[in-house]
Amino acid sequence: LLPPPQGYYTRRGGVGEDFITSPEVSQVFGELIGIWYVSEWIAAGKPGAFQLVELGPGRGTLTDDVLRVFSQLASLLSKCDISVHLVEVSPKLSETQAQMLTGGKVQPAPEDRPAYMTGISKTGIPIYWYRDIQDVPQGYSFYLAHEFLDALPIHKFQRTEKGWHEVLVDIDPEVPDRLRFVLSPSRTPATENFIQPEETRDHVEVCPEAGVLIQRLACRVEKDGGAALVADYGHDGTKTDTFRGFRHHKPHDVLIAPGTADLTADVDFSYLRKMAQGRAATLGPIKQREFLKNMGIDLRLQVLLQNSRDSATREQLLHSYDMLMNPKKMGDCFNFFALLPHHRLVHPYRKENPQSKPPLLPVAGFSELSLK
Ligand code: SAH
Repeated sequence: LLPPPQGYYTRRGGVGEDFITSPEVSQVFGELIGIWYVSEWIAAGKPGAFQLVELGPGRGTLTDDVLRVFSQLASLLSKCDISVHLVEVSPKLSETQAQMLTGGKVQPAPEDRPAYMTGISKTGIPIYWYRDIQDVPQGYSFYLAHEFLDALPIHKFQRTEKGWHEVLVDIDPEVPDRLRFVLSPSRTPATENFIQPEETRDHVEVCPEAGVLIQRLACRVEKDGGAALVADYGHDGTKTDTFRGFRHHKPHDVLIAPGTADLTADVDFSYLRKMAQGRAATLGPIKQREFLKNMGIDLRLQVLLQNSRDSATREQLLHSYDMLMNPKKMGDCFNFFALLPHHRLVHPYRKENPQSKPPLLPVAGFSELSLK
């Protein structure tokens, strides 16, 4: 699905300009995610090939940090055929990504190919760019969506005495160039289709595109194996009115100057879990500070502190750790959520000889780290 040409991401895509994300705060964030994928690859019995698929890679920092981990673990991964597949609609950001990941050595792909651009990473891994997840080849894959789902459009609904109404955006007849929220006079196709029958909230935001994406990821993980990691700010089906805008790092009225601000809504993870429709197992949401702690961020920080010579670097490391982990900053409001094949969490039922099953390895990040 392509956003409109005047949409924020096709026009600007202000990662760093209007908002800062965790991979931009610290290299450690992407490194720990890289380790998560390697750990899942080992748990799957080290398949001979995998695709790393990132949705909405922003400036490309996260994939760059993940690829650095892969190259540091080259002895482990040397026999594995790795390729990178980026889903990006912003021409400007795809250029930034190309610069970050390949040093600018990219070429446009022929028209009849699903990818629109190709290149080779600084570490020698082929990279492909697409506009849609459906263009990404099937196959054993690790999917990554960091601060991607919150950028997709939502529907808003309000419960009234007369039932559910959709909250729509209308042109204010009294103030020129001004938008306003209105309630649909009656039920709409969206009120009929997107509200869960068991809904208890009075106001809900639903992101059907996120639902479709999770269905696609769940189908792919079920069919070809691998894992999907979704990290975003959000809640587990408890919050109501979260739609807001940011421009130059400041809150911005969502109804003013459409297309110039980053519009965002919290991700409803309870909705994502429903949309997986049992095709894949789900883990989380778990708070960012818990996930990163379980992934060993404290140890990684210690090593980086020991290896840094000057106090400015050490201060920077501690400051970025605080940004990622502090519950008042990014630690509590960001969550991690995973899709995995069912057999990753539960052995397929076999009557004969149940003792012969090897124990399943725990999934890193979602339970406490145990150092043996
Ligand atoms: N993951 C990055 C950037 C998040 S910003 C980070 O954490 O830093 C959202 C990203 O999604 C941008 O790269 C934006 O251009 C891209 N994007 C937004 N809508 C999209 C869509 N419908 N399809 C593909 N990419 C999209």
